[in-house]
Amino acid sequence: MTSRRDFLEKIAVSTIGLPFLSFANTACAEAEGPVADGKVLRVAIMGLGGYGTRVAEAMQSCTRAKLTGVISGTPSKIKDWQSKYNIPEKNCYNYENFDNIKNNPDIDAVYIITPNGLHKEQTIRVANAGKHVICEKPMANNARDGQEMVNACKAANVKLLIGYRIHFEPKTLEIVRMRMDGEFGKVKFFQGLSGFTIGDPKQWRLNKELAGGGALMDIGIYAINGSRYMIGEEPIWVTAQETKTDPAKFKDGVDETIQFQLGFPSGAVASCLSTYAMNNLDRFFLTAEKGYALLYPSTGYGPIEGETHKGKLMHPHKTHQTVQMDEMAAIIFDDKKPVVPVDGQEGVKDMKIIDAIYEATRSGKSVDIRM
Ligand code: NAD
Repeated sequence: MTSRRDFLEKIAVSTIGLPFLSFANTACAEAEGPVADGKVLRVAIMGLGGYGTRVAEAMQSCTRAKLTGVISGTPSKIKDWQSKYNIPEKNCYNYENFDNIKNNPDIDAVYIITPNGLHKEQTIRVANAGKHVICEKPMANNARDGQEMVNACKAANVKLLIGYRIHFEPKTLEIVRMRMDGEFGKVKFFQGLSGFTIGDPKQWRLNKELAGGGALMDIGIYAINGSRYMIGEEPIWVTAQETKTDPAKFKDGVDETIQFQLGFPSGAVASCLSTYAMNNLDRFFLTAEKGYALLYPSTGYGPIEGETHKGKLMHPHKTHQTVQMDEMAAIIFDDKKPVVPVDGQEGVKDMKIIDAIYEATRSGKSVDIRM
């Protein structure tokens, strides 16, 4: 595989070699936008549902990532995606035969975008097939499963990245930069509000086995993850309170609303709300010795809006998943280190906090967190 730049240079010199160029190179030639250096990451998406569809659309504007395969249990969806994205038959798999992807040189990585409870088994199978794994959040149903996924990818010598698209969002990164440069002084308090009103009671998000829990797994994880990159520390304790107004819809083990508080080594605290029963909750607020930061909306698909004590954040919106996939290509192929990590261990940290929050709701006591 060669870089897009190498490829363009080759075209300029001669077109004789064109029939022998790999599919990856063709992908480079078709990519739109500015020329990017480096190899193109050829990705198969597993799970052609709502978010998988969004990622595929966004990848059409990538310069370093290209959709080259699909894994799905629904043949009609595979056919639609094949014609829409020009995916050859030999790059299409189902949930039974996708281990065969190990023999497919047109696929470098599999992006797992299926219900949470399936991520562990699917990640381990992809790793054992020798392909890099990008896995959606939450990475698993609990920290133990997440750690098994990290270990499996390490043993197979493949990278494991978690779909934390917001870790590449420019306004978010500006606040992280200001915090790292000391422009806020000592951080004192973070508030993270993450929630929406969920519809269909039969969906997998309200099934304990497939979702691993309820709102906390799906949307509350944004407040957890946000508290860590906004404050810049790892929490050491948590207290939490659960409330449920609709026990028929939110069965045992499926949380509707949880408020939680996190304590950090510096003395900073976070106060967060995770819910499936209220709308317009997508807001981060950080207050510190010398200033403040506000993101509202903070983690939706954007545009993210924000301000600090220095004024409104004006960074232009870019489709999150496009930026994410180009950056992930650089992480996988060039060992690029993102400002806010997206590796498997980062995912395990969020899972440890989730485990501790659930324990705190059950016990009513403060729970220590050990990273
Ligand atoms: P979805 O229900 O729209 O799609 C899930 C897909 O998985 C469907 O195509 C479905 O057919 C397939 N699937 C395979 N096995 C299944 C099974 N046993 N039961 C149900 N579906 C099965 O869900 P989604 O919104 O695309 O979410 C998928 C994953 O992506 C979740 O982990 C979710 O948390 C994550 N997600 C992330 C973001 C983000 O912004 N990073 C946004 C939405 C969803």
